[in-house]
Amino acid sequence: MTASTPLSPDAMSLLVTGAQEMGISLSPAQQADFERYYHELAEWNQKFNLTSITDYEDVQAKHFLDSLAGLPILAEELNLPLTLKPGLRLVDVGTGAGFPGVPLKLAAPDIQLALMDGTGKKVRFLEQLTQALALADTSVIQGRAEELGRKEEYRAAFDVVTARAVASLNTLVEYLLPLVRLNGLALIYKGPSAPQEFVDARSAIQMLGGDTVRLAPLDVPFVEGRRFILLIRKVRATPGDYPRGQGLPRRRPLA
Ligand code: SAH
Repeated sequence: MTASTPLSPDAMSLLVTGAQEMGISLSPAQQADFERYYHELAEWNQKFNLTSITDYEDVQAKHFLDSLAGLPILAEELNLPLTLKPGLRLVDVGTGAGFPGVPLKLAAPDIQLALMDGTGKKVRFLEQLTQALALADTSVIQGRAEELGRKEEYRAAFDVVTARAVASLNTLVEYLLPLVRLNGLALIYKGPSAPQEFVDARSAIQMLGGDTVRLAPLDVPFVEGRRFILLIRKVRATPGDYPRGQGLPRRRPLA
């Protein structure tokens, strides 16, 4: 299969309908990219077990639509159209098989995307995927966020940082906020535990220079269960002591 393979009729109808409900219209070329993404994921998954969700419809709903659900909220906060803007620097931390970063890039192709993950097999898949989809302005970074966030190259280097299903919130904010530039945003995807996690992470957010913009319940088309988006703006520089190394953000989360 090549990038010019014609789209099979209705192949991605769940995705297209759900995206439309969120105000996102996907062109035939974008639909074909998502279809190709599905096939790459399914093929690699047979070898490497990248995700437990591989059913055709489940991938469209729980991975593609769920990832896209953050886009309208992000665009609204940035006062931008759903295509965002050229050169916007977005890093997806703990992206795994590319979620939510790659669907966001397919919907808003002009952004500059960095995909960050600590695991080699994920990184190799992502390198293959970004080539197969011919994604421009996309880089794959292997490493742990709490180490990369101490390096000058990455610290405060991004306009937006995203994460889904990576760590509990009080740990996660220590991974994310150091990477965001002053006045930039963290867009965090969470499940039903979000309100409680938010209470537990409140002082950590503040300590790391963040200010909560909103915690919004989210209806994702064709996805059961309660989803939330937490949006944090970085209003002060993160103190130089953070992120801490040696697994401390996870073993001893800020309280
Ligand atoms: N975001 C994806 C993957 C979730 S699984 C999704 O929603 O489907 C969690 C991923 O985060 C794994 O791939 C793991 O390697 C990565 N990860 C966990 N902690 C990390 C850290 N501190 N730095 C970088 N990657 C991390």
